Amino acid sequence: MSATEDLVANSEGYAAHFPGPLPAAPSRRVAVVTCMDARIDVYRLLGLAEGEAHVVRNAGAIVTDDVLRSLAISQRVLGTREIMLVRHTECGLLGFPAEEFDAGIETETGVRPPWKPATLTDLDDDLRRAIAGIRADPILPHAAAVRGFVYDVAAGRLREVDGDELAA
Ligand SMILES: [Zn+2]
Repeated sequence: MSATEDLVANSEGYAAHFPGPLPAAPSRRVAVVTCMDARIDVYRLLGLAEGEAHVVRNAGAIVTDDVLRSLAISQRVLGTREIMLVRHTECGLLGFPAEEFDAGIETETGVRPPWKPATLTDLDDDLRRAIAGIRADPILPHAAAVRGFVYDVAAGRLREVDGDELAA
């Protein structure tokens, strides 16, 4: 049995206790941007239930154009007003050898990836830069209401990083 088959079977149990239907607009008016890391259970960590928040995830919680696209729709169409950007310790993108990764793919497939894998060098400084990037987005009506956090995957604890203390 594949993992997918197991998960589809699990969904039957979920349907049996389904709390919906719910409105599409998140009731807590918040969007959470975080990494895809399997150790982050966003819903349990933040005490979120269905219908309460948008969760946007990618490798590294990198604020790409596509994340900004999702946040624009979240704020402009579905009424969210706050953004939590949550990165984490032991992220796979810390010191990630992006050039080597790209070159390896090109050697194997003949194709250079059209996207950038991204590399994080310092959790706090990179997070401050990402916060500044969101705040500078002229498209987001509530761009100022972004706060950044580092989740410690070994301790299960969230720590806020002051977005105003930009490193030189
Ligand atoms: Zn990560």
